[in-house]
Amino acid sequence: MKKDIHPQYYKAKITCVCGETFETGSAKKEVRVEICSKCHPFYTGSQRAVETGGRADRFRKKYGLK
Ligand SMILES: [Zn+2]
Repeated sequence: MKKDIHPQYYKAKITCVCGETFETGSAKKEVRVEICSKCHPFYTGSQRAVETGGRADRFRKKYGLK
C-alpha cells in the first residue's frame, strides 16, 4: 500500500519580485510571484508600481487597470 498517493500539502514560501515573502498552504514548497498584495496597486490603493515598469504595465493590462 502506498501512503503518498496524494500530493503533500506544504507550507509554501511565496517570494515576490518586490522582495516580499510570506507563507501559505500549497502543493509546492516554493512559489515565485511577480506581484503580491503588498505591491499591487489594486490592493494598496495607490499608484505605486513595481519598480520594473514593464511588469507593472503587463499586470495592469491583466487586471484591466489604467
Ligand atoms: Zn510584491
